[in-house]
Amino acid sequence: MTLVGRGKVYLVGAGPGDPGLLTRRGEAVLATADVVVYDHLASSRLLDLAPERAVRICAGKSIGHCTLKQEEINKFLIEHAQAGQQVVRLKGGDPFVFGRGAEEALALGAAGIPFEVVPGVTAAVGVSAYAGIPLTHRALASAVAFVTGHGDPEAETGEGRLDWAALALFPGTLVVYMGVTHLAAICRTLQKLGKPADTPAAVVESGTLACQRTLRATLATIGEAASRASVVPPALLVIGQAVALRDELLWFERLPLFGQRIVVTRPQQGAGRSAAVLENLGAEVLLAPAVEVRAISDPGPLDAAIDRLSSYHWLVFTSANGVRYFAERLTARGRDLRALGHLKLAAIGPVTAAALAAIRLNADVVPETFRSEALAAALSDRAAGSRILLARADRGRTVLKDELEQLADVDQVAVYHNADAPALPDSVVARIAAGTIDWITLTSPAIATRLHALLPGDVRNLIGRQVQLASLSPVTTEAARAVGWHVAAEAVEYTWDGLVQAIVEVVAKERVLR
Ligand code: SAH
Repeated sequence: MTLVGRGKVYLVGAGPGDPGLLTRRGEAVLATADVVVYDHLASSRLLDLAPERAVRICAGKSIGHCTLKQEEINKFLIEHAQAGQQVVRLKGGDPFVFGRGAEEALALGAAGIPFEVVPGVTAAVGVSAYAGIPLTHRALASAVAFVTGHGDPEAETGEGRLDWAALALFPGTLVVYMGVTHLAAICRTLQKLGKPADTPAAVVESGTLACQRTLRATLATIGEAASRASVVPPALLVIGQAVALRDELLWFERLPLFGQRIVVTRPQQGAGRSAAVLENLGAEVLLAPAVEVRAISDPGPLDAAIDRLSSYHWLVFTSANGVRYFAERLTARGRDLRALGHLKLAAIGPVTAAALAAIRLNADVVPETFRSEALAAALSDRAAGSRILLARADRGRTVLKDELEQLADVDQVAVYHNADAPALPDSVVARIAAGTIDWITLTSPAIATRLHALLPGDVRNLIGRQVQLASLSPVTTEAARAVGWHVAAEAVEYTWDGLVQAIVEVVAKERVLR
């Protein structure tokens, strides 16, 4: 029997929350998964890494909905692996740190199922880093202990009870997992057994996520502070001298988009790059494409245009997708870039120009503002009286053609298909409805209209109020207004970076007001 194609279970550490903290090995096994079994806190951005066809099962863990018992999880993993499938068991943090990963691996081993453990960034490591707390420091902490706070130290006796006396004297940083319920009792016990009351302490709730919240106090005061602030799991308690460095080392919570939860509605192609710009500024990003970009179903007219390229003087592109699909079809038609050698090239904006540059072509014209009217104006001197081929999507505004036609001989050809997405991901709609989304980006009029059509009526009413809209350009804003939505931020430069800048400015103003 060959090894390839046999069923296998991967216990994959997902990290503490920020999807960027998954390992490359984790990403690779997710990309080939037939089944993904995840805990309810798993980021939808991680689930997006599995193939579209993969079955996604929520195994729960706390919170009533979608909860499977541990035996049910084990049975499910075994059955699917026996059926020859690649099963990814995505677990918070690291699978072998307080995650019952060992129990799952033992059950798999007992059933003769091959398995692999893909380590993850455990909460202690990831969450403290994002809270600006070093776990060790040459002068302040030479050891670190990961401790479970699951049991009540004041109630428990006998076997299984942690050696709190040893922990009170532990010469380093204590990191307590699952400690919210017994937080006050844990701190009292440590003090009683000799840990100084003024030892710096912190509680970090939902670390590495947009909703990360950090309370900084001392061993004597952190219990009271956490109860006053109504801290809820997941939260980590960190105790030790190194905690004091947070005051200087805080970085994540200072990022310009920290705390902002943003839904990106642009087509899947290129959405990853757009998301990265927001994530680099500290935002949490969810993808919910409202439109899709596909190859044109009947390439006949495009092929005909390619065959008569020698009869044109100008080739005009209005999007990066246009450039990519045009180049693809050119190759499919057996031609190469030499077919464009005699042509002047125009791009509507810098992103389109960059798509040309990616295939080693320079744009001759890029207008100062990135809209159809400006492109027509920029071409008016140079292209008057010439023959122009306008390569564009099969739907969208016709302004450019109308304006160019007044000065030149224009043929328009559809190089790709702009389709409506059939639905938005349920998980994203649920987050909007639950009030845990701050922004939705709109990058074209079609996206604004389609998003409105796809959202359930009650959720639609939240948009523009509780959930703010960020628009790429005035025409996009107009389309949002036409469906009754208020736009809070509009790009000055009509590019993705311009849109992000507009969000950053509104957020900065809101922070001043708070
Ligand atoms: N296997 C996981 C731990 C599971 S136990 C790991 O390696 O991280 C669950 C506990 O982990 C929570 O009660 C909390 O104490 C901690 N935890 C997990 N994610 C966290 C987060 N994003 N912020 C703070 N604590 C977190």
